[in-house]
Amino acid sequence: MVATMQLIDGNEISKQTLAELREKIGRLFAREKIVPSLVVLRVGDDPASVSYVKKKEKTAAEVGIKGTVKVFPPDISREELAREIVALNADAGVNGILVQAPLPPHIDEKSMFNLVRPEKDVDGFSETNLGRLAQDLPSAIAACTPAGIIELLRRSRIETAGKHAVVIGRSLIVGKPISLLLLSKKSNATVTLCHTGTTNLAEISRQADIIVVAVGHAKFLKKEMVKPGAVVIDVGINRIPDATKKSGFRLVGDVDFDEVAPRCSHITPVPGGVGPMTVAMLMRNTFLACCRQNGIAEESLL
Ligand code: NAP
Repeated sequence: MVATMQLIDGNEISKQTLAELREKIGRLFAREKIVPSLVVLRVGDDPASVSYVKKKEKTAAEVGIKGTVKVFPPDISREELAREIVALNADAGVNGILVQAPLPPHIDEKSMFNLVRPEKDVDGFSETNLGRLAQDLPSAIAACTPAGIIELLRRSRIETAGKHAVVIGRSLIVGKPISLLLLSKKSNATVTLCHTGTTNLAEISRQADIIVVAVGHAKFLKKEMVKPGAVVIDVGINRIPDATKKSGFRLVGDVDFDEVAPRCSHITPVPGGVGPMTVAMLMRNTFLACCRQNGIAEESLL
C-alpha cells in the first residue's frame, strides 16, 4: 500500500481547462471579433456516436465555439462524404473538422481522416499530424485523448522527464500518439510500447514509473503488473453487466481499480478520469487551429 495515493480527477481538471479556454475565446472575440468554429460529421445513428457528438456540441456552446453537426445517412457513398470534407476544407469560416468514428464498413476511415486539411484536423488522426507529432513539430495537432493525458499529468504535477513510461495498446487514436507525446523532448520520458505481440508484458509493466493502458479489456491491468508508487492512467471504457443499475451495466476501465489503486502514487478513475479530458482537448485543438489560421499567437490572449 502506498500511503499517499492520489486520484487524478479528470472531471475537475477538464472543468479548469475549459474555464481557461472560455476566457481565451472571450478575449479572442473581444480583440479580433473571431469566433472559432467546429464542424462534426456524423454518419448513421450509432448510439455511442450520437451521445459523443451531443456532448461535443454542448461543450462547444459552453466555451464559445460555434459547433455545427452534419448528419448523413449510413448509406452515404465514400465520394459524397469526401466531397463534404473537401468543401469544408475550402470554407474559410470553418476552423476545425471532425469525422466521427466509427464510419460504416464501406467507407475507409483512414482515407477520410487523411482528406481533412491538416490545419483543420482537430482530431489529429491524419497522417500529416501524426507525422508532425513524430517530427516533434509545433504545427502538429495532437489527438485529443493523448493530449488530455498529457494535460492530466501536467496539471497533477507528475514529472515525465527521465521516467520510464509503458504504454499498453498501439492504436492510432491512443497508443501511438501518446507514445509520441511522452517521447517528445518536452515530456522526455523513455517509452516502451506494448501490444498483443509483446512477451512478458507483466515483467515490462512492472518496470514502469508511468503506465498508460488502452487495450479495451475490462480490468486488464492487475496489481502484480504494477510497481508500488507507479502512476496509472486508465484510458479504457468497458461496459460490464450490473444488475443494480437501471441500465443493466456499468462502466469500468482497463485497470482492476480496486486492487491496483492502493499500489499507485496516482491513478485515474473510470469514469471521471481520461474521458472528460478528450472533449476538453477537442475544444482546445479547435481554438488553437483558429488562432493559427488567423495568425494569432495563443500567448497573446493570456
Ligand atoms: P483498439 O483500437 O482496439 O486498440 C487496442 C490495443 O490494445 C491494440 O493495439 C491491441 O494490440 C492492444 N491489446 C489488446 N489486447 C491486448 C493484450 N491482451 N495485451 C497487450 N495488448 C493488447 O482500442 P483503442 O481505440 O485504443 O481504445 C482502447 C480503450 O480505450 C477502449 O476501451 C476504448 O473505449 C477506450 N477509449 C477511451 C477514450 C476516452 O476518451 N477515454 C478514447 C479512446 C478510446 P494489437 O495492436 O496487437 O491488436
